[in-house]
Amino acid sequence: GEPTSEKLVELAKRRGYFFQSSGSYGGVGGFYTFGPQGAALKGNVEDAWRDRFAVAEGNMEIDAPTIMPEPVFEASGHLEGFDDMLVECPDCGESHRADHVVEDDTEYEDAESLPIPEVEEVIAEYELVCPSCGAGLAGQAVEAFNLMFATNIGPGDSQPGYLRPETAQGIFVEFPRLKEYARNQLPFGVTQIGRAYRNEISPRRSIIRTREFTQAELEYFVDPETDEPDLERVENVEVALYPASEQQTDDGEVIETTVGAAVEEGVIGDPWVAYFLGVAKPWYESVGVDMDRFRFRQHLSGERAHYAADCWDAESEIDGNWIELAGFAYRSDYDLSKHAEHSGDRFTVFRQYDEPKTVERATVDPDMSYLGPEFGGDAQTVVSELEALAGRDRAAFEGDAVEIDLEGETREIPVEKTGFAVEEETIAGEHVTPHVVEPSFGVDRLVYTVLHHAYREDEVDGEERTYLELPPEVAPTFVGVFPLQNDADLEAQADEIVDDLREAGLSVSYDDSGNIGRRYRRQDEVGTPFCVTVDYETIEEDQTTVTVRERDTTAQKRLSVDELAETLTAIREG
Ligand code: ATP
Repeated sequence: GEPTSEKLVELAKRRGYFFQSSGSYGGVGGFYTFGPQGAALKGNVEDAWRDRFAVAEGNMEIDAPTIMPEPVFEASGHLEGFDDMLVECPDCGESHRADHVVEDDTEYEDAESLPIPEVEEVIAEYELVCPSCGAGLAGQAVEAFNLMFATNIGPGDSQPGYLRPETAQGIFVEFPRLKEYARNQLPFGVTQIGRAYRNEISPRRSIIRTREFTQAELEYFVDPETDEPDLERVENVEVALYPASEQQTDDGEVIETTVGAAVEEGVIGDPWVAYFLGVAKPWYESVGVDMDRFRFRQHLSGERAHYAADCWDAESEIDGNWIELAGFAYRSDYDLSKHAEHSGDRFTVFRQYDEPKTVERATVDPDMSYLGPEFGGDAQTVVSELEALAGRDRAAFEGDAVEIDLEGETREIPVEKTGFAVEEETIAGEHVTPHVVEPSFGVDRLVYTVLHHAYREDEVDGEERTYLELPPEVAPTFVGVFPLQNDADLEAQADEIVDDLREAGLSVSYDDSGNIGRRYRRQDEVGTPFCVTVDYETIEEDQTTVTVRERDTTAQKRLSVDELAETLTAIREG
């Protein structure tokens, strides 16, 4: 039959989960609005992420601007290299991601990492065609297209800025201040949930690839020499792993194992990455991802940034395709070093030794002005060359003269003139640039997966029914309340129940239109776990009771009004 995605996208629009934005003006690709149900579901997922990755892990959450000045992205490398490969159709003029065209039509699974000329060759060799109109793409030039949205800060164009393509940079650039809030103690983590912007060449599959989306990121700063994760907390978590080695063979398989065993056997290379995979897996399950359609896939070496020691993606299966939900990367000191280099600010933490250490330090005379012009170059350059040499090669000062390289020429300086000396010094510690472990989650794709994996069709009383089997913890509406008929007494009693439940913190939908069966179907389709119906028994009885219907089984029970809020709240809280 029809793929679930098509039915889901239709349901999402009809019931207020999500729909394309600015529809009155024809809409524009890659922008979606979350309707009332979608905004509530997304909010619940974000809250659950915050509870797990910020609060329960003891990490700090920040909220940085979405526009940042150009130097930030010069340092991060986005200006230079945050590109996708673009190919334009000569016939219909549509632009496509060249690596997607190559990937979809050939055996290439890692086209993103191929150099442009090779992509052009593959397009020609396999006679690949435009995904929109079918015209041949052979011979079309493939070019690099930067995905950042550019803007100007203030009037004029003297201060270019960019909409951030990831939330991470907002954390990295504030490291010199954030480390103070962490009292200069590693390890510590900083999270952020917020919008990111990428001018995707061909946004597709509704909210799976958009131009504005929400990320939830954690940057965890560690001392690479002394910090280790507490793997005991996650070692028994069962995971489905698809390592690079398995992807490279024809009959490669997903390995079912535990985090502990995977680290021991070296399947997961980095223990920090392993730790966060272990935290993430049960969390994904708790928000409603089907664990039979979930795996962690290791990046192939070509997919990985050169500084990333190990990198895994969380993936979910959608209509037979695997999509990336999150990336887990060990990023070394790359980001902080780059910002230190470009900004001149301090991106280090002081590592205090257990006991002060005595070290020997070689120095030279800081004043070489007496050398005179015959040595060429300025005295300051001579000093820094000598200092660098004294730091790394003291033997160079053992003869009569020391040789240094000055503007491409070798110069000899009499050793006694350098003022070379070795001094003892007591130091309490040293400045280290922390390494970064980054779990980076996409929220929109997760919301999509949760809905897709919750989508069910069955038959109730001979009628077809669609419902969403959402976990009560994230369901946007928790309970529907209906008066059985249009009757002032029933409505008054229902109103009272609505007030009670809302006061207890539950999200309630009151519905008095249409027959009761239709009202149940409506709530089933938005995934409301419970419906409460107020009928004549409710108002006639002494011990007031209502009918409570459960979404998945459609089973009905009578519950006393007095204990309703308490019972439902307990279920909501799991
Ligand atoms: P892709 O290869 O699919 O373009 P990516 O590898 O560039 O994604 P990352 O930079 O690792 O993605 O971003 C982290 C997360 O942000 C992704 O796992 C994904 O969930 C989400 N994400 C990235 N791009 C988009 C997008 N255009 N729309 C929705 N979510 C996105």
